[in-house]
Amino acid sequence: MTRIAFIGLGNMGGGMAANQAKAGNAVAAFDLSEAALEKASAAGCAPAGSAAEAVRDAEVVITMLPAGQHVRAVYAEDILPNAPASALLIDCSTIDVESARAVAVQAAERGFRFADAPVSGGTAAADAGTLAFMVGCGEADFPAVEAALAPMARVVFRAGDHGAGQAAKICNNMVLGVSMIGVCEALALAEKLGLDPVKFHEISSQSSGQCWSLTSYCPWPGPVPAAPSNRGYEGGCSTAMMLKDLKLAQEAAARAGAATPLGAAAEGLYAMLAGLGAGGRDFSVMLELLRGKAPAG
Ligand code: NAD
Repeated sequence: MTRIAFIGLGNMGGGMAANQAKAGNAVAAFDLSEAALEKASAAGCAPAGSAAEAVRDAEVVITMLPAGQHVRAVYAEDILPNAPASALLIDCSTIDVESARAVAVQAAERGFRFADAPVSGGTAAADAGTLAFMVGCGEADFPAVEAALAPMARVVFRAGDHGAGQAAKICNNMVLGVSMIGVCEALALAEKLGLDPVKFHEISSQSSGQCWSLTSYCPWPGPVPAAPSNRGYEGGCSTAMMLKDLKLAQEAAARAGAATPLGAAAEGLYAMLAGLGAGGRDFSVMLELLRGKAPAG
């Protein structure tokens, strides 16, 4: 039994905290939202009155917050001044590499071990305890991080030192965002050429066009029954979330002096999709935009 403080019990954090409780750990949970706290309480967590209170005697602190500014503030104001220095600190939010490295430095100055550990998998995997974690931390700290993440994980990778987890996450999602657009363009072109898009899916899935966006998450309804395209593009990874990750990739590329022209174009297209009212729909609704249809739900 480990004493865990879990801060940020939203769409992702709620299921993740519940899995820690299910594994027999004592979870002190905090969120600004009363409804999220009540849900966590029903799932076996002990609601705390504040983040500072939640971390006071924690062995492991896990955060799952919206963005870099939330993570910086919660660490500076609540966690670092109040957690025992022996606590292992793990941030699972998707944030900018710079914020992750800044928090790591502040944590180290006070003697804490810290890891950035963003996830891939979405809310279904958060609920099922089958997330993929991409960890940035000191090599010696990794076994403890891996053990702490185990009740929430299908697989845990150490990407490298602090910030490397966030770097892996935004690079992976840039591949995903760009490849989805390529697949949507090809499906829309197939349709215009009089080629059955489902037949195209079958052929390209076994040819050199094969990729995850096509074979596991097909934006054309039918060939992949579990894909959000079969549910009116609801659920899955929202266009707004994809846009957030592509913005992080572009900011990182600008700072690093990397050329990412397709990443930039993809950011523009998802911004257009969100501007048309599809921010809450799965990002594969890009297909509708490229077929010249209204993508809003
Ligand atoms: P969410 O908005 O549902 O949850 C965030 C929670 O943090 C909210 O409940 C909010 O009240 C809480 N919060 C904000 N500030 C707080 C504070 N100061 N103290 C305590 N609680 C605070 O977001 P989410 O979908 O759970 O995503 C969380 C993170 O995971 C994001 O960084 C996101 O990019 C990443 N992510 C999400 C998905 C997904 O499919 N939803 C997938 C992979 C990664």
